[in-house]
Amino acid sequence: MQPRDLSTHSAYVPGRGIEEVARDLGLDPDDLIKLSSNENPHGASPDAVAAIREHADGISVYPKASHADLTARIAAEWGVDHEQVWLSPGADGSIDYLSRAMLEPDDRILVPEPGFAYYGMSSRYHHGGVNAYELSADDDFEQTAETVLSAYAGERIVYVTSPHNPSGSVMSLDEVRALADATAAETLVVVDEAYGEFAATDSAVSLLEDRDDVAVLRTFSKAYGLAGLRVGYAVVPNEWSDAYARVNTPFAASELACRAALAALDDDDHVQTSVDSARWAREHIASELDADTYDSAGNFVLAEVGDAEAVAEAAQRNGVIVRDCSSFGLPTCVRISTGTREGTREAVDRLNETLADLDLGVHA
Ligand SMILES: *Cc1c(COP(=O)(O)O)cnc(C)c1O
Repeated sequence: MQPRDLSTHSAYVPGRGIEEVARDLGLDPDDLIKLSSNENPHGASPDAVAAIREHADGISVYPKASHADLTARIAAEWGVDHEQVWLSPGADGSIDYLSRAMLEPDDRILVPEPGFAYYGMSSRYHHGGVNAYELSADDDFEQTAETVLSAYAGERIVYVTSPHNPSGSVMSLDEVRALADATAAETLVVVDEAYGEFAATDSAVSLLEDRDDVAVLRTFSKAYGLAGLRVGYAVVPNEWSDAYARVNTPFAASELACRAALAALDDDDHVQTSVDSARWAREHIASELDADTYDSAGNFVLAEVGDAEAVAEAAQRNGVIVRDCSSFGLPTCVRISTGTREGTREAVDRLNETLADLDLGVHA
């Protein structure tokens, strides 16, 4: 037998891991600087790690109290009702929950191109289609309501990524509001704020106070350094927040994920250190890398390097793993995640050597 026709489905292409690259190239993993997946170079909060140890004995029981506690805690942070917080395994899980809640077969979603692959993947799993609006390198991936509306054709969900992956550009709240005003009453605008902590723009959660057509995605994977645990959430309007009970996979976030996230939320210092260091590092990359870069509000910088595949390959041999953006449709760009101060300085030096060796850099 065969699964259903999956020919229009494409596999997610993750950034390459340290062990994988070290094994391929016969290098010591300790000599590699991994800046390919926008992970937190400071790791998780030590309090989150301690919480996991402390609650390790509790994993034989379904996560009921911890799930409810984390939901309540997040709701209090945002000043929303706890039904409005949809916990999920990573923000990716929330994308699925929104697909389940919104899409009838053959409904379509509108996504940025280049952009995050999972929006389209999720729609297709749920028998929906995908249209795209273009963000253009020519105008620095600027995000306005107009850019999105020029491609809008009544899709059920419109995704906005702010800060945008892989470019780092943002959409202001005024533009998000204008977009939601201009789209149909039955179109949901989803603002993906996976990198929201690193930006200076306000969260779109405030828009939910007086509208029912905007939802916001947040995650513990980036600024909180819990990517390996898989915990994120959507904040949705009160009007239809009860749909969660009918669409979520029961016990959406695991016991240890909930415990660690609760502890991480209490460690303001760790988040602040992570955000400060990412802001420093993105400036350092922009000013010191021998290539043109785009302004970024995230924990990564997109750079024009000529031949992304060649540069990513050569950089790897030189001990730095960056993301070749060919799979995003940007074959001239690599995305460099921010490291620690020390790691970023070293990575930029090695990347500049690599670019000089290849002589492919587009000199700033
Ligand atoms: C990393 C990321 C996410 C969410 O990742 P999870 O680990 O599933 O929480 C969502 N959107 C974008 C654009 C991302 O880069």
